[in-house]
Amino acid sequence: MLTQAPRGTKDILPSDVYKWQYVEGLFRDVCEKFGYKEIRTPGFEHTELFKRGVGETTDIVQKEMYSFKDNGGREITLKPEGTAPVVRAFIENKLYADTQPTKLFYITPCFRYERPQAGRLRAFHQFGVEVFGTDNPSVDAEVIAIAMMFFNKLQIQNLELRINSIGCPDCRARYNDLLKEYLRSKLDHLCKTCQDRFDRNPMRIIDCKVESCKEQLQDVPLMLDHICDECQQHFESLKENLQLMGIPYKVDPTIVRGLDYYRKTAFEIVSHEIGSQSTVCGGGRYDGLVESLGGPSVPGVGFGMGIERLLLTLENNHIEIPQAPGVDIFIATLGDKAVKEATRLLHQLRMAGISADKDHMNRSLKAQFKYADKLNASYTIVIGDNELENDAVSLKNMKTSAQSEVKLSNIIDELRAKLLKEE
Ligand code: ATP
Ligand code: MG
Repeated sequence: MLTQAPRGTKDILPSDVYKWQYVEGLFRDVCEKFGYKEIRTPGFEHTELFKRGVGETTDIVQKEMYSFKDNGGREITLKPEGTAPVVRAFIENKLYADTQPTKLFYITPCFRYERPQAGRLRAFHQFGVEVFGTDNPSVDAEVIAIAMMFFNKLQIQNLELRINSIGCPDCRARYNDLLKEYLRSKLDHLCKTCQDRFDRNPMRIIDCKVESCKEQLQDVPLMLDHICDECQQHFESLKENLQLMGIPYKVDPTIVRGLDYYRKTAFEIVSHEIGSQSTVCGGGRYDGLVESLGGPSVPGVGFGMGIERLLLTLENNHIEIPQAPGVDIFIATLGDKAVKEATRLLHQLRMAGISADKDHMNRSLKAQFKYADKLNASYTIVIGDNELENDAVSLKNMKTSAQSEVKLSNIIDELRAKLLKEE
């Protein structure tokens, strides 16, 4: 127990962390190119925020939240997703009073009590983007473009962007009547979850993954066929914006986000390799959310992307992430005097912005070189009594094996010049 991480959690080990740093760096980079600023919110919030912000009828709120009472008796929940906390921060800090739109991105851990499997953990991570302050379909397209450009830069193929419009409260109310009419006669044949959803959230029934339910719903009326003119225009404009940017998409009328405050655009980016956990990125427009959490009536649109699922997709596509570079220089030593000189010199090198290392295990010279290899050192020097006496060392390029004689007292400048040349 003591030495086993809780079920559904995973360590990111030093040998793997370069992948995380790479995708995080790339995500930041892409978001910043689009003019988005990073926001960081706490790891936990009042439980009520997620109940209202994610929705009482969702899987997240009904069965997946890590909730507890803190020692002060407050109902607290570990962040299961990123949108509700960002909306809370947007309202609390009055970001709506700034020039709009507010364009934000985040990188965050998330916690959900789920059955762990490939691409599904209890502690996982998300990239996300949210834009507040305009319902212009150009920002729906921009948000999608961020995700697609990010995937593109990672050279992931076999991804499909699926878009849909799930209407607005007006056309959804009319559609829900129609849908319920259709579903009523089939209710006995649907699963328990679907039956529960019939009154509270009928549109979610279309999303059911149970085979027998899917069979019942083959000719179910779809929201997209019943959206109002305004929603239709919004959807057409979204498609036009995507076309202008050369982003291919597929209209998929079965994508649903069954919550009241979700409006118009809903989208998913699906990878064909991971099997059932194939949605790498999901998002949409949530024009009613800010208001329903106590803020002004401000529209919003965004997405969430699972980082573990992204890394799995990269693996399945055999895409290698560039390894982090090794240490610039390794200082091998022979004798006590040399060890002292190495300590002094190492600190100077590091102060000068050069990554440098030495042995800490009293290794033999041969073993020190092996260790330097393991650290993937670009250069090595050996300091012994001779080198100290003559102020001369042999600087060895570990890749080419080329050696050059340099003054020990001048090693920082010499090395810096060589490293610069290699860049
Ligand atoms: P799914 O249908 O796979 O359960 P979801 O609808 O619950 O996904 P969202 O709430 O939209 O997912 O979260 C956005 C993204 O976060 C997902 O597309 C996925 O990449 C990732 N994600 C969701 N749940 C998990 C989890 N338990 N473990 C790892 N990644 C997850
Ligand atoms: Mg889920």
